[in-house]
Amino acid sequence: MITCPICQRPPTKRDGRDHRGRQRYACRPCDRDFTAGSSSIFAGYRWPAEVILAAVRWYLRYPLSARQVTELLAERGIDVSPRTVLTWAQNFAPQLAFATGPYRRRIGRRWYVDEVFMFRGAGKRYLYRAVD
Ligand SMILES: [Zn+2]
Repeated sequence: MITCPICQRPPTKRDGRDHRGRQRYACRPCDRDFTAGSSSIFAGYRWPAEVILAAVRWYLRYPLSARQVTELLAERGIDVSPRTVLTWAQNFAPQLAFATGPYRRRIGRRWYVDEVFMFRGAGKRYLYRAVD
């Protein structure tokens, strides 16, 4: 059930549509208009939640800079600045970590090391990673 994001009461009446075509509600006690998405953490952002979540996930999951994430978004017709991507990551990363916490796999007791020697030019490199 939809409730007012300010006073948590059910809306008193429907109040037309907003500029995106979503149902708008009016709350008489606190004299506010709101939609079903007004209480979302993405409310007030220009881009939809899917775009913001994709950008934050790319930035956190892969070794990409904010500028590289901006280029990936630009390929999809989304024009944002690298500073915007950083702001999204700073705002939503803690909330995403909290929300995904229960679904994360527990760290096991056994660890393996995957290792390899690489010969590049005259140098010899040792590359390793821990595998759970
Ligand atoms: Zn209200």
